[in-house]
Amino acid sequence: SSREAVTVIGLGAMGSTMAEVFLAAGHPTTVWNRTAGKAGKLVAAGAAEAATAAEAVAAGNLVVISQVDYAAMDDSLAGAELEGRVLVNLSSDNPDRLRAASLAVADRGGTLVTGGIMVPPPGIGQPGAYVFYSGPAEAVEAHRETLQLLGRADYMGTDPGLAMLYYQAMLNMFWTTLTSYMYSAALVGTADVGPEQLRPYAAALLTDMADEGPMGYLKILTTEIAQGVYPGEENNLHMQAVGSEHVVDAFEQVGLDTGMPRALAALFASADAAGHGRDGLGALTEAIRKPAA
Ligand code: NDP
Repeated sequence: SSREAVTVIGLGAMGSTMAEVFLAAGHPTTVWNRTAGKAGKLVAAGAAEAATAAEAVAAGNLVVISQVDYAAMDDSLAGAELEGRVLVNLSSDNPDRLRAASLAVADRGGTLVTGGIMVPPPGIGQPGAYVFYSGPAEAVEAHRETLQLLGRADYMGTDPGLAMLYYQAMLNMFWTTLTSYMYSAALVGTADVGPEQLRPYAAALLTDMADEGPMGYLKILTTEIAQGVYPGEENNLHMQAVGSEHVVDAFEQVGLDTGMPRALAALFASADAAGHGRDGLGALTEAIRKPAA
C-alpha cells in the first residue's frame, strides 16, 4: 500500500473509531490498548494488534493516541523508543500538561503534535468534523493527508497548549449552552411543560445569536470584547444583575438545583460592584478577566 502506516494507541470509543477510519482508507493500521480484548473488530477489519505499546509505536509512521488523559500516555509509552517518532495525541488534558508532555517527548527524541478533536465518535471523518492541532507545523503538514481522514485539520500555532485552549474554549460553550438548556427545560417542566414546548424558543435564540440581525449577539459581543467598549444604554448590566437574582429565585421556588443560576448571578453582581452597572452585558468580560479576590 502507498498509504503510510498508522498506529492507534487507545481503543476507547474515540480511538477504535479512528482506527476504523484509517483502515477504511487503506492505511496499514496497528492498534494497542491497555486492557486486552478491544481490538477484535479492528483485527477482523485488517488491523494488526501489537502485544505492547512499544511495539505499536515502532510499527507506525504516524502514532495517533486517544486515551482518557495525558497521564495515560506517560504510563503507556514509558518503555517505548520515541527517537524519530511522530506522536499525535488527541486526548483531553490541560494546556500546561500538553506543554510539559511536548518537552518530555522531545527529550526522548520524538515529536509530539497536540490535538483536540471536536466531534463525538460517530462524527469522526464525517462532514463538519474538525481537529485543532498545535505544536511543530512541519509534523502536521507531513501527515496532513492522513490526519484529514479524521476531520478538517486546523493548525493553530506552535505553542503545544493551543490545541487544548481552543478545545476547552469550545467545550466550555458546548457544555454550558446545553446545561443551561437542561436547567431551563427542568424549570418549565415543574409546570408540566414538556421540553418539546421549549425547544423552538431555544432553537430561535441560538440561531438569532449566530445571525447578524438585532439579536445577533455573538457578533455584537465580539466587537465589544475586541474594543473593550460595552454600551449599556438599552439594557444596562445593573438591571440584568437584578434579573439574574430573579432567575435564581425561580429555580429556588420550585426546589431545583440553583448552582448554575447562582454562579451567573454572582458574576453579574461582581461586575456591577466593580462599577459596570451602567455598561452592557459585555462588561462581564472585565469581571472574567479580573476576578474578584
Ligand atoms: P473511553 O473512556 O471510551 O476510553 C478511554 C481510553 O483510555 C481507553 O482506551 C482506556 O484504556 C485508556 N486509558 C485510560 N487510562 C489509561 C492508562 N492509565 N493507561 C493506558 N490507557 C488508559 O474514552 P473516549 O474514547 O471517549 O475518549 C478518549 C479521549 O478523547 C478523551 O480524552 C476524551 O476527552 C476525548 N474526546 C472524547 C469525545 C467523545 O465524544 N467520546 C469527543 C472528543 C474528545 P482501557 O480500555 O485499558 O481502560
